[in-house]
Amino acid sequence: MNVYDSDRMQAILNAKGFRSEAELRKADVILINTCSIRDKSEQKVLSLLGELKGLKQKDPKKVIAVSGCVGQRMGRTLLQRVPHLDLVLGPDAIDRVGDLIENVVNRGERLVEAKFDEDGRSYSQPCVVNRAKPSEFLTIMKGCDHFCTYCIVPFVRGREKSRSVDEIITDVKNLVSKGTKEVTFLGQNINTYGKGTGQKLSQLIEAANEVEGLERIRYVTSHPRDLGEDLINQFGSISKLCPALHLPFQAGSDRILKAMSRLYTQELYLKKVELLRKACPDIALSTDVIVGFPGETEKDFEETLKVLANVKFSSAFMFKYSPRPGTKAADFGDEVPEIVKEERLARAQQVVYSQIEKENLKYRNTVVSVLVESMDKKKKFFSGRTPHSKLVHVMNVGDASVGKIIDVEITDTNVSCLKGFYVGAPKTNIQFNSFERGIESSFSASLSPTLH
Ligand code: SF4
Repeated sequence: MNVYDSDRMQAILNAKGFRSEAELRKADVILINTCSIRDKSEQKVLSLLGELKGLKQKDPKKVIAVSGCVGQRMGRTLLQRVPHLDLVLGPDAIDRVGDLIENVVNRGERLVEAKFDEDGRSYSQPCVVNRAKPSEFLTIMKGCDHFCTYCIVPFVRGREKSRSVDEIITDVKNLVSKGTKEVTFLGQNINTYGKGTGQKLSQLIEAANEVEGLERIRYVTSHPRDLGEDLINQFGSISKLCPALHLPFQAGSDRILKAMSRLYTQELYLKKVELLRKACPDIALSTDVIVGFPGETEKDFEETLKVLANVKFSSAFMFKYSPRPGTKAADFGDEVPEIVKEERLARAQQVVYSQIEKENLKYRNTVVSVLVESMDKKKKFFSGRTPHSKLVHVMNVGDASVGKIIDVEITDTNVSCLKGFYVGAPKTNIQFNSFERGIESSFSASLSPTLH
């Protein structure tokens, strides 16, 4: 969602005449789009702001701004704490980023814009991105009505509001006309898209499936309790809906799930997995896991390991619990010691990574369909994803280009990716190790999530 918001702000600023500048030193405006989901991400923002102090001292006209969830959470406090910061704006103010920056530049004021948009259950935010990538994110709703006890999102993104199906489908058609083949619809709790407006996510998926030229549809993030039968049954029956779903379970123990206020039990979660696999036997499931939630005992944690072992996820984002100020869980006490959290995280990772490694091995000597998303600068190799969301590095190019969907024969795998050759094009003899080093240096420049 932050990548989407950054792209949106970049497009808005471009329309105002700003252009992107990769070197902080040369930039007139430095805008840091931020995430506050974990304490670590917030600390990184504060440390980056500290590093920028020297640049501001050398060039007092330089505008330094913070947008996103840290801006929303800290608001005026952040402006007071960082004297060289000029502008703080929350997620609901991103469409006004151009005007706000101009106000700072023209009037020399230091500003905070961190109010929620309070009107109703619907909102409008037509896509403004000028150039489209083969795979694009599209925010279809904002906010969340659940208050999981560890989560900062409802405090920094507000209550749920949805865009209309018509507006979203118009965006999808525009993106497709610019070359997009895959869209990933974004929402904090996407299963309840349309709440209070009479529209449903399953309707949107059906409408998107009809868009000519669109090849793949994905959505994220689902809440296990809100994933209804209509959505489950679309896997395997809606042709463009990719066989992949991110379904966070967070913890295996019912006692911890209750303390997290997740509103489901392990049994219900596993039931949903069973129904998904009945509807679409080869569906790739990914998940989020928090280890070391306050009060988590070894027995509780073993329930998490049990779910990991049962479900065999295709990928998992696993984190040590970190208290977020203002959330209920931050006052629970009964902290799990850091060393125990680390040890549990390592055990959970070991289970998941060994499963993924085995799963990926099964792809060897098979042919997969890959949407080419990026190519190295010398056009010697490229990367893309399968419908199951597997990252594939391809070592020969032939007539492939970014945006094309091609067949790739998989010859090697590891825990993080599949590697192979574009079927039909002459094979190269690139060694995997040098190939991976090349990938790192070629693509790292495009991975920066901040807008300078
Ligand atoms: S459903 Fe997701 S976004 Fe909403 S409060 Fe829970 S964890 Fe946070």
